[in-house]
Amino acid sequence: TRPGTRTDPRPDTRGPGAAPGEPVVLARDVRMGYGGVQVLNGVDFTVAPGEVSCVIGPSGSGKSTFLRCLNGLEPVLGGSLRVLGEEVGHTLRDGRYHPWTPKHFAAFRRNIGMVFQRFNLFAHQSALDNVACGPVHVLGLAPAKAREQAMEQLERVGLAAHAHKRPHQLSGGQQQRVAIARALAMNPALMLFDEPTSALDPELVDEVLEVMRGLAADGMTMVVVTHEIGFAGEVGDWLAFFADGVVVEHGRPAELLADPRHERTRAFLSSVR
Ligand code: ADP
Ligand code: MG
Repeated sequence: TRPGTRTDPRPDTRGPGAAPGEPVVLARDVRMGYGGVQVLNGVDFTVAPGEVSCVIGPSGSGKSTFLRCLNGLEPVLGGSLRVLGEEVGHTLRDGRYHPWTPKHFAAFRRNIGMVFQRFNLFAHQSALDNVACGPVHVLGLAPAKAREQAMEQLERVGLAAHAHKRPHQLSGGQQQRVAIARALAMNPALMLFDEPTSALDPELVDEVLEVMRGLAADGMTMVVVTHEIGFAGEVGDWLAFFADGVVVEHGRPAELLADPRHERTRAFLSSVR
């Protein structure tokens, strides 16, 4: 079985190139900017296999940018970023840096599921087809096999009974669960969530968090940017507070939330609770 298969409660989610014991994410002094404006000012961040790392912080602090760096959607301009056993964007061979080809980027991203605030489902396709689409077109699975596996993923997020509905026939919470099933159908070794419940009506938040809780219990390695402090406290193995493009403070959620060491963290927490 490949890494990330959910038979073991804490599967080894490291990618094929990972050295033994290497974290899934190892960011050291990561820097990134847009057009000369520095956005990430030296981010240090580590995620071990099977861990859930939650990220909180004010708007504009670089949380989304960091997630985009993790799956190679933004170039890292300084520091070192290793994800799933690879230095994102280039390979060191014969003492030289070889930049990744688009094909290498695509192969890398195939192992990483991403869930956004906006679900971006295909409006003209059923929930089932939305989930089966990637496995057919990207992984080359036979359509019948892909639909069978897509149905399993929809069962996992509690939507098997809605498999044939189009997105507009589903609630926002159900659409987000389809988006999660779609990411899971690619059998990712790492799942990234960027404020997955921020666009939802309050009464729909819990059903999505419940699905994420289940993934965490299954041993999925996850990075979750969220405003749901309760979820972070309960499900996160670690909690990082971002501000001005750095991790100001990180620790065990219970400790960080109960007794933040930095004034900046304290001020942020009191503003959201
Ligand atoms: P967060 O997710 O914490 O709210 P972001 O990573 O989205 O923060 O943004 C960090 C900073 O980078 C903000 O000042 C934002 O305006 C800027 N930024 C984000 N995306 C772009 C972009 N594509 N081009 C230019 N600036 C951007
Ligand atoms: Mg953001």
